[in-house]
Amino acid sequence: MIFGKIIIDNRDNVQPFYDGLSMGCGEIHFECSTCGHDVREETLLFERANERISIEEREYLKNFFNVVKNPYYNQTSSVGFMRCSHCKSEFALYIGSGEVQMGRYQASLVAVVECNK
Ligand SMILES: [Zn+2]
Repeated sequence: MIFGKIIIDNRDNVQPFYDGLSMGCGEIHFECSTCGHDVREETLLFERANERISIEEREYLKNFFNVVKNPYYNQTSSVGFMRCSHCKSEFALYIGSGEVQMGRYQASLVAVVECNK
């Protein structure tokens, strides 16, 4: 994997973009650094889609982002890929999410890097 520039880096200041009752954990969204289009996907769907990435890719991303187990309180970390629906640019993401208290869900966008696999 060859990465371009890191376009979002909240590792030192993680803030939830979703905090509520939905298991879907809201929508991940950020601006495509190539075309400016809004790249978005439901957090739960992002996690499900990225369960299928290889162990090697997962380990590579974890090392690249220096992933920690809990990026924000009780949120757990996950990594994966998202593609801009407009220009097809691909990005690697590091997010935190989970049921942080009984019935309360949170998600945070921790970091995003341009990706050229
Ligand atoms: Zn784009």
